[in-house]
Amino acid sequence: MKFRGMGDRKALERDQFIQRHCYACNEYSGKFFVNDRENPYTFDPAKPFHWIRGRQVGGRSIMWGRQVYRWSDLDFGANGRDGFGVDWPIRYADIAPWYDHVERFVGVSGERLGLSQLPDGQFLPPMALNCAEQVVKEGMAKRFGGERVLTIGRVAILTVPHGGRAACHYCGPCERGCITHSYFNSIGTTLPAARVTGRLTLRPYSVVHSVIYDAERDRAAGVRVIDAQTREPLEFRARVIFLCASTLESTRILLNSKTPRFATGLANSSGELGRNLMDHAMGGGANGTIPGFEDRAPHGHRPNGIYVPRFRNVKGSEPDFLRGYGFQGGGGRAGWDRVASQPGFGRELKQALRTPGPWHFGFYGFGECLPRPTNYVELDPQTVDAWGVPALRIHCEWSDNERKLLHDMSVTAAEMLEAGGARDIAPFVDDNPPGLTIHEMGTARMGRDPKTSVLNAHNQCHDVKNVFVTDGACMASTACQNPSITYMALTARAAAYAVEAMKRREL
Ligand SMILES: Cc1cc2nc3c(=O)[nH]c(=O)nc-3n(C[C@H](O)[C@H](O)[C@H](O)COP(=O)(O)OP(=O)(O)OC[C@H]3O[C@@H](n4cnc5c(N)ncnc54)[C@H](O)[C@@H]3O)c2cc1C
Ligand code: SF4
Repeated sequence: MKFRGMGDRKALERDQFIQRHCYACNEYSGKFFVNDRENPYTFDPAKPFHWIRGRQVGGRSIMWGRQVYRWSDLDFGANGRDGFGVDWPIRYADIAPWYDHVERFVGVSGERLGLSQLPDGQFLPPMALNCAEQVVKEGMAKRFGGERVLTIGRVAILTVPHGGRAACHYCGPCERGCITHSYFNSIGTTLPAARVTGRLTLRPYSVVHSVIYDAERDRAAGVRVIDAQTREPLEFRARVIFLCASTLESTRILLNSKTPRFATGLANSSGELGRNLMDHAMGGGANGTIPGFEDRAPHGHRPNGIYVPRFRNVKGSEPDFLRGYGFQGGGGRAGWDRVASQPGFGRELKQALRTPGPWHFGFYGFGECLPRPTNYVELDPQTVDAWGVPALRIHCEWSDNERKLLHDMSVTAAEMLEAGGARDIAPFVDDNPPGLTIHEMGTARMGRDPKTSVLNAHNQCHDVKNVFVTDGACMASTACQNPSITYMALTARAAAYAVEAMKRREL
């Protein structure tokens, strides 16, 4: 690596000025992130939105963090309870069998906790906590009883061989890709399974421009495509269309599919298409040092951390804010890689780095974001991408509720570190722009009423019955758990529904 993994700063500033904000976009894995000049979008500079994207076969499943948590009825009922957004048209019981289905297929390791706010799943054996995490877990159990619980992260990474794939060997840099296919991604898992059916046609370099609408039949007839390499315009015809190009890309395709009947975008009779953009609020937490354990060292590079399920507004009710947050993070021991922060120079510095540093621990919160119509996307009338497709203009900012969650995270994280016996506790609240958590959701929400939502309870457009949208665009709220396993469960559920509807000749 010419730049020792740090990346070519000038090239990053020129070509990936947005993507470089993502921790995983480095010299090794930068090729999985888009070129921002070819894939522009616009926003008010006073309200930045960091849209982190991967436009290759496999999408961002190649670089994702693999943390997977089920949602519960606390989450599906949230909008209905406090009135932000519209009530979800489904509840946990509707999606639970599909979580089972997806988890069995992808392979998820984790610990069963029996908590109502974070339902257990079909887990492979959990990874182990290290000594710093164990001591903080025990301290928290003593101080907070069952109210605040620390567990190993639930991850789509194999701890035992599963479905013909090998168990993880703890090498660490997963965002570069995994030669043993031990973590779930589309290219190593779903696409090979689809290929086995003999019915898969995979056509890379196919940029969908818009959906073709047949006004006479009041149905979509296919998609307009641009070949990314030759720029040749193509049309693909289909009986049923699943848009699953990622939250904002699917909405962009619909906004770009205007017809005389749908002048503001396909399936937008409600006017809700593009509205209620959300992302998790990330940036509140605390760091500390864990004394002792000088005779212990981490073994290998466990590609996972800890999780603390939501405890705010679960049983009681916090006066200051709505909804809640969970924590990720973990313990580790500083090694030679602390070279940037270790004072010293030359031989003395090298010798100092040979001695491992102290154990440390960090909690990093992920908070729920309220759905608000003032956070929205539209087509920018002046900007197109490298293929001539109109780009998005994004309007998004945090509200006071998210800011209060971030502040509360820093207080409760410090309390938990103190309970675990940590020293030098440093709470923090970072001001991260929306988008950077890479959990963008909403803009084509599900709902019961076609007047206030774009999709029905099966991710089917209320207005155009043979178009389904099953990525994060469909989400009516964000909960605080990482969302991708919920997109997968909703997609599997919608696909099964569409197949039955096709058999009944309804589609
Ligand atoms: C560094 C990182 C860490 C993350 N960690 C987690 C985590 O721990 N847990 C979690 O739940 N989520 C995590 N995420 C988010 C997760 O990756 C996404 O939620 C998930 O990949 C979304 O899946 P998707 O299929 O909807 O979109 P994507 O994975 O973005 O895939 C979209 C696909 O559609 C294609 N596409 C887009 N537009 C068009 C078009 N016009 N025509 C044709 N094709 C198109 C793209 O090429 C791509 O193949 C993380 C993301 C990143 C980058
Ligand atoms: S740490 Fe495990 S999942 Fe990650 S790349 Fe290595 S083997 Fe694959």
